[in-house]
Amino acid sequence: DGKVVVRDLGKTYRSASGTVRALSDVSVRVAAGEFCCVVGPSGCGKTTLLRAIAGLETPDCGAVLVDGEPVTGPGLDRGMVFQQHALFPWRTVRGNVRFGLDRPACDCPDCEARVRELIDLVGLEGFEDAYPRELSGGMKQRVGVARALAVDPEILLLDEPFGSVDARTRDRLHAELLAIWRRTGQTVVFVTHDVDEAVRLADRVVVMDADPGTVQSTVAVDLPRP
Ligand code: ADP
Ligand code: ADP
Repeated sequence: DGKVVVRDLGKTYRSASGTVRALSDVSVRVAAGEFCCVVGPSGCGKTTLLRAIAGLETPDCGAVLVDGEPVTGPGLDRGMVFQQHALFPWRTVRGNVRFGLDRPACDCPDCEARVRELIDLVGLEGFEDAYPRELSGGMKQRVGVARALAVDPEILLLDEPFGSVDARTRDRLHAELLAIWRRTGQTVVFVTHDVDEAVRLADRVVVMDADPGTVQSTVAVDLPRP
């Protein structure tokens, strides 16, 4: 069982300059409704693992299962928040959030209302028509969160989403994310290299071995939630 099950996942990137091992036999299990943080040093394969769960990366071996079914590509059951927000610079806040919808081109009243609701949810009311370049780092990450939540995914995947925002803003974003998680009951997988951040947020922390060159073990620690 487990909402998300990653079993013996392996991945090597091949390019003109050679090969890089990114994951070696990594296994992780995330229960439904759990807030799980994956921590490990830079380069240990966290982003690759998350992208494999998102269906954005095809592993060489092993399996990713969601509800017992193999992941073969991106799906509406999973929303992803990227480290560098990955917003479209030529689209406004409204346009970027709209892009997360099942039917991004639809301008029916229901879709319009949903976009407005998402923008309010992340505290960006008044900024609907702003472009990413006009926003602070924290605000851009908020747009990324709203876009990922657009289809109300069962699983929210976040790749060091608040790594480049200041400490005070990060605290606020943590509180907002936890409030969203409590309300939606989503399964969250949150990747970070920051152990303090992981411990602050998670029900369960999965620690990844540093070196993708050898078989990587993972250790899971259950945390009491105050
Ligand atoms: P982390 O998120 O823990 O920093 P990554 O999954 O980003 O780890 O990277 C794991 C390893 O794979 C690193 O050595 C990284 O340089 C390499 N890597 C990641 N993406 C690519 C890519 N597209 N092409 C080549 N090497 C990559
Ligand atoms: P955050 O990233 O959470 O917005 P900041 O400290 O960067 O935190 O910004 C504090 C507040 O200043 C924001 O919540 C927002 O109300 C306002 N703000 C930030 N950037 C802009 C901007 N480009 N235009 C107008 N107001 C802004």
